[in-house]
Amino acid sequence: MASNTLFLLPGDGIGTEIMAEVEKLIAHLNGSGATDFAYDKGLVGGCAYDAHGVAISEEDMGKALAADAVIFGAVGGPKWDDVPYDVRPEAGLLRLRKDLGLFANLRPAICYSALADASSLKKELVEGLDILIVRELTGGVYFGEPKEITDLGNGQKRAVDTQVYESYEIDRIARVAFDLAMTRGKKVHSADKKNVMKSGVLWDEVVKQAGRDYPEIDLHHILADNAAMQLVRNPKQFDVMVTDNLFGDILSDAAAMLTGSLGMLPSASLGAPDPATGKRKALYEPVHGSAPDIAGQGIANPIAMFASFAMALRYSFGMVDLAGKLETAISDVLEDGLRTGDIMQTGCRKVTTSEMGDAIIAKLG
Ligand code: NAD
Repeated sequence: MASNTLFLLPGDGIGTEIMAEVEKLIAHLNGSGATDFAYDKGLVGGCAYDAHGVAISEEDMGKALAADAVIFGAVGGPKWDDVPYDVRPEAGLLRLRKDLGLFANLRPAICYSALADASSLKKELVEGLDILIVRELTGGVYFGEPKEITDLGNGQKRAVDTQVYESYEIDRIARVAFDLAMTRGKKVHSADKKNVMKSGVLWDEVVKQAGRDYPEIDLHHILADNAAMQLVRNPKQFDVMVTDNLFGDILSDAAAMLTGSLGMLPSASLGAPDPATGKRKALYEPVHGSAPDIAGQGIANPIAMFASFAMALRYSFGMVDLAGKLETAISDVLEDGLRTGDIMQTGCRKVTTSEMGDAIIAKLG
């Protein structure tokens, strides 16, 4: 019996096209003896709604909970714009995040040197960039209660969102950031707004407290607005940045776009370690959506999906060398001048989704 299990959820639109490349990759890795993955596939998003009337079926939720890692493509598209709110495609992803307890969202921003010219920042600012934003994903203002709009009866309304964090939520995300930083540059910036928000005061207090258990980590506090400014002024000063759900949403998008196209950006979401096995529930997905404008044409960029798979190798299976090999293969193919349409540059060769997948797999040897 294979010891490592994956559950693939391709989803909608280009999700199915990029996941087909992942299946080729798994077949190659298993065939070469590098891995022994067993995998199953399910439906999520619009395709699950068409088949079952829900964004993910209970059976597939069960499989996601049982797997060592979930590999997710993308969901949504105009076909499902008018389905009821609670079964809309995104509800499948939200259910997975909630039921798997995925509180830590990891968004790397790595600038491949072959693409440094494509960044909106000057080449010297982004070339060699490798930063990791760790965003708290299940708490804060997106979930805090009360969350409501009240009619004040005088022609006015009042909207309330509640930013709320308990210390355990801050402590566990801080420790994820410290643990990851220990495998990288050992530097962590914690971003909050403690100058104007009580949740920021507690955030800073708990992060510093947790930091005492990591004496090797160079821990810095930064106000979230300054973090935004510094990310575009001098992004290479950062290694790992840990922040809450709201600031993380914004800062991770800003950091990610330093490196170019949406088609290049991976992500991972991790839960708490299982007390018995030490394994974390985990979901890996590209940052981009289902790209309905190019779906079905075989031209989507599979690199974000492959880079997400590399994160799975590293964080769910401890296959650090293999993850590095896959990332190097991606970088080498870009150096060779192969490009999907979204990252096309003068003098490069335009390839399809499948050709890009094949070229990366071929580099693995
Ligand atoms: P999108 O990320 O799907 O596309 C934005 C633009 O980037 C499009 O022009 C698209 O062609 C391009 N693009 C994205 N990924 C690409 C890739 N791998 N290769 C080449 N080009 C790529 O965002 P959108 O258009 O705002 O949303 C489309 C649908 O996706 C909507 O239904 C939205 O709700 C959904 N969505 C899903 C997720 C998710 O599944 N996690 C995330 C974002 C959006």
